[in-house]
Amino acid sequence: MVRLTITVQGVVQGVGFRPFIHAAATTRGLAGWVRNRTDGVRIEVEGPGPAVGDFLFALPREAPPAARLAELEVVEVPPLHEAGFHILDSEPDAPPRPSVTPDLASCAACLEEVASPDARRFRYPFTNCTRCGPRWTLLESLPYDRPRTSMRRFALCADCEAEYRNPVDRRFHAQPIACPTCGPGVSLLSEEGTWLGEGEAALRAAVEAVRAGKVLALQGLGGFHLVVDATCPEAVLLLRQRKQRPEKPFAVMFPSLEALRVACEGSSEEEAVLTSSEAPILLVRKRASGGVVEAVAPGNPWLGALLPYTPLHALLLSLAGRPLVCTSGNLSDEPLCREPAEALERLRAVADVFLVHERPIVRPVEDSVVRVGPEGPEVLRRARGYAPLPLPLRDAPCVLGLGGQLKGTVALSVGGQVVVSSHLGDLGSVEGVRLLEHTVEDLLRLLEARPVALACDLHPDYASTRLGERLSAEWGVPLLRVQHHHAHVAACMAEHGVSGPVLGLAWDGAGLGTDGTLWGGEALVVEGARFRRVAHLRPFLLPGGERAFREPRRAALGLLHALEGAGAAAHLRESFAPGQVEVLLGMLARGVQSPVTSSMGRLFDAVAALTGVRDREGFEGQAAMALEFAAGEGEAEPYPLPLRDGEPAVADWEPLARALLSDRRRGVPPPLMAARFHAALAVLAESIALRVGVPHVVLSGGCFQNARLLREVRARLRARGFHVYSPRLYPPNDGGLSLGQVAVAARALVDGPVGRVACRSTR
Ligand code: ZN
Ligand code: ZN
Ligand code: FE
Repeated sequence: MVRLTITVQGVVQGVGFRPFIHAAATTRGLAGWVRNRTDGVRIEVEGPGPAVGDFLFALPREAPPAARLAELEVVEVPPLHEAGFHILDSEPDAPPRPSVTPDLASCAACLEEVASPDARRFRYPFTNCTRCGPRWTLLESLPYDRPRTSMRRFALCADCEAEYRNPVDRRFHAQPIACPTCGPGVSLLSEEGTWLGEGEAALRAAVEAVRAGKVLALQGLGGFHLVVDATCPEAVLLLRQRKQRPEKPFAVMFPSLEALRVACEGSSEEEAVLTSSEAPILLVRKRASGGVVEAVAPGNPWLGALLPYTPLHALLLSLAGRPLVCTSGNLSDEPLCREPAEALERLRAVADVFLVHERPIVRPVEDSVVRVGPEGPEVLRRARGYAPLPLPLRDAPCVLGLGGQLKGTVALSVGGQVVVSSHLGDLGSVEGVRLLEHTVEDLLRLLEARPVALACDLHPDYASTRLGERLSAEWGVPLLRVQHHHAHVAACMAEHGVSGPVLGLAWDGAGLGTDGTLWGGEALVVEGARFRRVAHLRPFLLPGGERAFREPRRAALGLLHALEGAGAAAHLRESFAPGQVEVLLGMLARGVQSPVTSSMGRLFDAVAALTGVRDREGFEGQAAMALEFAAGEGEAEPYPLPLRDGEPAVADWEPLARALLSDRRRGVPPPLMAARFHAALAVLAESIALRVGVPHVVLSGGCFQNARLLREVRARLRARGFHVYSPRLYPPNDGGLSLGQVAVAARALVDGPVGRVACRSTR
């Protein structure tokens, strides 16, 4: 007789792990118990040696697919000679470790049940099991058990209770278990909040409204979506107008993979991502004649496509029988609406009808956005399905990172791991700031964490920085200010477990540099908590400051002004209203309201304007995207973009700009100019890497969302023998900043005062 105590850490709660253990033990005739603890799962098994050994062997091999076993600790203890194997109540003991799963898309078995007329859950929108369904969006506290989820208010009926207690049932200890008898239901409300119907009738009326060209506000898994018919131009334009979102692409949900194939081209790897339990919005190539109207993603060869990930979505889409636009239920740049009352108030002017449900959403979670690159999936917006999966960060003290401004996230290191919140969006609104504050409180409370330090950006005006300053004073802990691009590089290093030294190419929109100018075309050598700026783009001025961020023509004027002074007007006069060029040139000449930048994103803007691809923007990054799409796939002779010696070295865009102007005069087509520009950047990356001579190169920053740029730079560097790392599970854009801040600050605290030089502490 042998008895073992086994402690399992990792993602082991809410994934059917205890039922799996129960089955694995009972089929081998073993006695003992299993229980959730705040820091993972504890098992005691007892039986003949070979059977116990076999059980131990099966643990990592046969665990449910969504489980991730990080650590397994086994201790032999004296046998107790007990009988039977039991699932015991959870034991809140050790401080919680991040061991909960994200929400999982509906499994095939549940979807089949919802579609079978004889099943108890026929057409029931909240069907789930241990392999699928909500987790993170309904978790109130740890450990993960029904009384600590928003399902606690629904008492189980006898049938559900029996399934919940039956070890061989798929719903054995499925915490969100529900059925039409005992679980939540849906209702349809008018824009005034008048009750219009419930259940199946509500679903049908909601779909009818959408098919008639109306806007539906749909309360889903992690918040509200706005839904319109993606095949109806008037409906899409109506939504654009009401949501005040003129051009930014919308995501489209398809009834099935077959329907998706009609509108988009997807490789088998892309289809695997679409049908995974993460079920993100995936960027796929759209077909010209696919039926989805152009206004969904104007001028964009890609479509953000997704498949139904809850039975509610599956039912609606099959009733609709066509693709539906499914976009965040918010006004432009505000966070997602979560509760019916809030949606009725904030979305009244946008939606015609509201389909709401009774299962409270504990925290808002948006859809993730993913692209499949040459080396696999790349997460561009990390939320549902990915957050809050932790990342190992060895020996890290407890640090809270507050992230950036436009794509807010919060990161918390605790117990040797770091958890990054889901995408919070723009923090520019009152609601955005409130969401940031709630997210911080939520993470700290759930994980019972007491940070010994805070980390934020250098930028004093980010809402995240201001919250950091406030919390630092309230808690009496230091606030470490991490330079924006240092954080970009550090995030990618943390993801890949690389400690440096690395050469980080942080090609980005703009972030405040240590010299007070706007950086963004940076090459940093990062080691430990420190960085050295080894190269950057030649700086130029942005006339009008903030406004230049939405007007690529201003970046172009700033660039040409540096070369030709007042003569720059001649190249750009037709882009501006009469007289405007002169005003801006005056500002440039006197240096008023014209911040200095070395931003790669602004160089993209300038080139987009000079090539005639795009001189104004409807949303952030639109011009750079248009330039990428214009460049297509073809090879091109790179523009000259020499690296001038110095400490740091300077990438001089002057020859590039002159060659581009000469191409323009000769009538070279914009796609070729765009391709030559991309090729020039790949050569620049190679020159920097060769000059610096560090064998490991990290590519990060918003510009690397550009698939062509990433591919070309990576290929050039690899051909020279460099090891190249780029972000995969955490976004290259500002959504990754909080992770990088935590990584840098944690390292600075471990390394002591020397390491801390890289970040500026206010205490
Ligand atoms: Zn299921
Ligand atoms: Zn029930
Ligand atoms: Fe950035």
